Amino acid sequence: MARMTTPPAIVILGVGALATARRVQSAVQSACPGASVHGLQGRVADADVDVAFAELAEHLRELYASGTPIVALCAAGIVIRCVAPLLANKGGEPPVLAVAEDGSAVVPLLGGLSGVNAMAREIAAALDVKPAITTSGELRFGACVLNPPDGYTLASIDQGKRFVSDLLAGEATRVEGDAPWLDDVQLPRAEDARRAIRVTPLAWSGATDELVIHPRSVVVAIGEALEVRDARDEGLHEHILEAARERGLAAQALAVLLAPAARIGDPALQQAADALQIPLRFADDDASSDPVRLLGKALRMPHKTLDDGNPAQIAFAIAHAPVDPATVGRARGKLSVIGLGPGDASLMVPAARAALSHATDILGYETYVKMAGPFRADQHVHGTDNREEMQRARHAFELASAGRHVAMVSSGDPGVFAMAAAVLEALDHAHDAAWAAVELEIVPGVSAALATAAQAGAPLGHDFCMLSLSDNLKPWSVIETRLRHAAEADLVMAFYNPISRARPWQLDKALEIVRDFRGPSTVVVLGRDIGRPGAALKTTTLAELKSADVDMRTMVIIGSSMTRAFRPANTSREWIYTPRWYKCADFNV
Ligand code: SAH
Repeated sequence: MARMTTPPAIVILGVGALATARRVQSAVQSACPGASVHGLQGRVADADVDVAFAELAEHLRELYASGTPIVALCAAGIVIRCVAPLLANKGGEPPVLAVAEDGSAVVPLLGGLSGVNAMAREIAAALDVKPAITTSGELRFGACVLNPPDGYTLASIDQGKRFVSDLLAGEATRVEGDAPWLDDVQLPRAEDARRAIRVTPLAWSGATDELVIHPRSVVVAIGEALEVRDARDEGLHEHILEAARERGLAAQALAVLLAPAARIGDPALQQAADALQIPLRFADDDASSDPVRLLGKALRMPHKTLDDGNPAQIAFAIAHAPVDPATVGRARGKLSVIGLGPGDASLMVPAARAALSHATDILGYETYVKMAGPFRADQHVHGTDNREEMQRARHAFELASAGRHVAMVSSGDPGVFAMAAAVLEALDHAHDAAWAAVELEIVPGVSAALATAAQAGAPLGHDFCMLSLSDNLKPWSVIETRLRHAAEADLVMAFYNPISRARPWQLDKALEIVRDFRGPSTVVVLGRDIGRPGAALKTTTLAELKSADVDMRTMVIIGSSMTRAFRPANTSREWIYTPRWYKCADFNV
């Protein structure tokens, strides 16, 4: 089975299907690593599945729209009804299969051109049943001629359908070019057939007696020539397509856009690669930056080159087989500084999850790296000790500037007493062009104060501040001054790093200062390990609060004079909130 780029979602509606779901998951593991089991909340315990969802139809539609292959362990009719509203839209259709809960039937429903039948075969083999394949070409020839493996694309799906109908009607075909996946297929072959399956990077002429399949075997390289450098927006990709056309090459045969490393960060290049839907890679250039030389350096497969004169601005290398973009030159490095949220996977933002799944390297404090996992075998995990933040930031830039895709993890939000500032500080002080060329992104997360506040109600409903009580990186006198001002200003205060073995007395001192300004009945919220196993939420008052109730895994929220605790009538649940309006001696509402 061809390797899928997006791992499938195996969807179940009850615990009864869990065992079959796990068998399906391991059946598809080698071809689609990262397949996850999604369970309906309330019917399946969140802890038993990888992803919990609240509503089936909506969840299936989201998966379908994002191009995620779906294996639903429920009635085919349910699946069809759920995705039906999206079917009219043309465009990429992911494989969608229904599998009986007990594993007795495997029914490919949609995605004939994206490998649904191959998936059905694989799953059915693992469940020891026969897949319900209904595609006639597939039945007759044993594989879908219109679904070539990764690295190949059809020139025209419509022409492909016509061609297969002709074969089904009794026509024979030749096969020209290298199509190893067709070797075992029972095609009606004849050397002298009028029809031909042609595997070639050259553009299809439009002839109706051929099925043209393009290997992604062409690398296009551009140099530093002014005309190309000046091309903005559509300019560059049009220029490349035009050059390909002039040489008879099919746009679908393009595998990679290669550029000199000196142009990393040039937005015109990324726009062109996006428009061509191919990856952008770089080769470290020497003085000449001649694209033919770049190709020679970056492409390790045998190839022949076509260029546009002397000196060349644009050159094409044609390899004898599909080119794996990951093997050509190197990527522009990327560093994503992400926040995991407090702990629970459902509180991690999707952009952070995406950065983790794209990362080649994951860096961070051991505990958080574990929290962010599990990782695939091809991802490198670098766990380090908490104290070496600047060293870790520099390590991240070193990896990223060599073309790696690095995810740096923090708990909560990366910009709140965490790695984002360390990363920017490292960049600020490095004055290094290679570090500056790294694509840097900072992905926010749910910070501990926000997660704790939400558990308690809305204690941060009015003005508040976040303070770290750690004097590791700032003098204690600064902390005291800030505490005094914040307490006097009647701000709600969220204390991070409230106490540790190395800082045993600081919290008591801080509370002493706060008590000078705030009454004994001031509401205090303590959140420990919020969003993690053993989470504990406690409400108390400033008078009762003792530093023994607090440890380094605790978030301390000290209410303002307006913060209230109440229990709605006839309930035992207590809620804390700070009203959005204000009332005090010199401000009457
Ligand atoms: N970047 C993190 C904060 C790191 S400082 C964030 O935005 O949340 C570490 C402090 O955050 C801890 O000492 C504790 O006070 C607080 N903290 C982090 N995770 C927490 C959690 N799950 N529950 C309660 N407090 C937490």
